[in-house]
Amino acid sequence: MELEKKEFDIIILGCGPAGLQAAMHAARKRCSVLVLGRIEQSSLYKAHIENYCCVEGVKSGKELLEAGMHQAQMFGVEFLSEDAVKTEANGKEGFLVETESSSFSCLSLIMATGVSRKGLGLKGEKELVGKGISYCVDCDANFYRGARVAVYGNGSAAVHGAITLNEIASKVYLITSGLDISQGLKKALDESGVEVLQPRKIKKLVGQDKLEAVVLDDETKLVVDGLFIELGAKGAMELAAFLGVELDPERFTHIVTDKNQATNIPGIFAAGDICGLPYQMAKAVGEGCIAGLSAGSYCQKLKREAKKQ
Ligand SMILES: Cc1cc2nc3c(=O)[nH]c(=O)nc-3n(C[C@H](O)[C@H](O)[C@H](O)COP(=O)(O)OP(=O)(O)OC[C@H]3O[C@@H](n4cnc5c(N)ncnc54)[C@H](O)[C@@H]3O)c2cc1C
Repeated sequence: MELEKKEFDIIILGCGPAGLQAAMHAARKRCSVLVLGRIEQSSLYKAHIENYCCVEGVKSGKELLEAGMHQAQMFGVEFLSEDAVKTEANGKEGFLVETESSSFSCLSLIMATGVSRKGLGLKGEKELVGKGISYCVDCDANFYRGARVAVYGNGSAAVHGAITLNEIASKVYLITSGLDISQGLKKALDESGVEVLQPRKIKKLVGQDKLEAVVLDDETKLVVDGLFIELGAKGAMELAAFLGVELDPERFTHIVTDKNQATNIPGIFAAGDICGLPYQMAKAVGEGCIAGLSAGSYCQKLKREAKKQ
């Protein structure tokens, strides 16, 4: 789906409870708001909730998310069910966001992309991390210049990663059990020269001190120097790292914010699981509310200053 409007006051990365609540509060501050991401990718989608204040009984996460989207639409929030694949500063003020098939600009960004809980769970996977196995193309692609690599995944992160690697590596396989991407990204993949193996899963990793090959579920053995496991969407950490957003210094798994949900970069706010434990809907919604209000105030201030000049 193409959106006509390309400039927004606020773009929210993430369509979970944090992003949805942020969207509602930002829109009520008279800001134009675009929410990116997929509700089916929210941690809440398959969960059942019985500890969320004022909601009695056991509620399906899917129903709560659909209600939240509808509520936000009523406040004028726009949605695009695509992932952000690139974010960067737009000159002195504002940001550019590239999605699977479009690009947008905004004055303020809210990062509400949740956390990834996924790995392949294969024997030897943990031991081979950093020795051929990586979870981040943008971080490690350069180590595989001229090498043979495979990427595993079904979403935008895997496809974008495979296309990026194809410019660096000598051979790139994309192993997927079934792609879930936009038409635009599919076209880019078709034109890239990446060899797509589908519907396939990885059955076994070969190598002790270093990855040597992967064996697929049809017994095909691919001799590779690297395997990038890119499940789901473009990781928030990669998007954040590009923008210089501060991450927690010990494990680099969470975004650091102040009590206004502001990051170290003016105009960038964060909310929900991406900001750390506890991974709970109530916390995500609370932080989303604050992030939406803070981003709204930030945009209003920029607009007032622009009017004075
Ligand atoms: C099995 C299970 C049971 C749970 N039970 C409970 C419970 O009983 N009570 C409770 O309070 N909590 C529970 N939780 C936790 C709760 O679901 C999370 O805390 C909550 O969903 C976090 O919200 P969030 O908005 O931060 O992230 P999420 O809900 O995970 O949403 C993340 C969003 O970011 C989007 N996204 C990711 N990458 C990108 C990108 N590159 N560009 C654009 N968008 C992107 C995704 O598409 C998704 O829409 C449970 C979780 C699980 C997995």
